[in-house]
Amino acid sequence: MELLKERIRKDGIIKPGNVLKVDSFLNHQMDIDLFEEIGKEFKRLFSDCPINKILTIEASGIGIACIVARHFHVPVVFAKKTQSKNIEGEVYSTKVQSFTHKKTYDVMVAKKFLNPEDNVLIIDDFLANGCALLGLSQLVFDSGATLCGAGICVEKGFQVGGELIRSAGVRVESLAIIESMDAEKGTIVFREDEK
Ligand code: 5GP
Repeated sequence: MELLKERIRKDGIIKPGNVLKVDSFLNHQMDIDLFEEIGKEFKRLFSDCPINKILTIEASGIGIACIVARHFHVPVVFAKKTQSKNIEGEVYSTKVQSFTHKKTYDVMVAKKFLNPEDNVLIIDDFLANGCALLGLSQLVFDSGATLCGAGICVEKGFQVGGELIRSAGVRVESLAIIESMDAEKGTIVFREDEK
């Protein structure tokens, strides 16, 4: 998605440790006009799927997932990272290692919000080593729902997640795939640029 790539080139900041900061438009301050275009693009890409639910993970996936959901006219469920007194009844739960915080979290969704009749689209801001996406996929499989695929805003193609998840048979559509990035030079190469 050219608009997203342009914005990453313009406002993305490469940090040491293979971290791309996009907090001025994607996951802290949020550019809702850009999110609208992201929603439109995911709707186009997954127009062949009978999606009736969007699943994401707190916190940075939620804003994007909500705008995407407006294009599908379906509810959003977000996996919670902490056991909360407000989560009632039984839960589907799995462990996720956070790429940015290097911690392992239990993530959970109340069983009543994921059912075998559901056709689920997972939405997240980043795909790096694939832990978040694997965890979310596991919650979908545990519930017996159908996983239609995953819509990712920024995939870091030089990390293992994309390959891992695709080879597990999950359809992944990423709007911008970064082939390489250089923190010292501040350069980013997107996958198509290499052709
Ligand atoms: P994974 O589980 O695929 O290793 O990492 C995905 C999660 O880590 C995403 O939900 C995202 O919040 C965070 N993440 C991974 N890489 C980056 C990055 O380069 N920049 C930012 N801002 N978040 C990242």
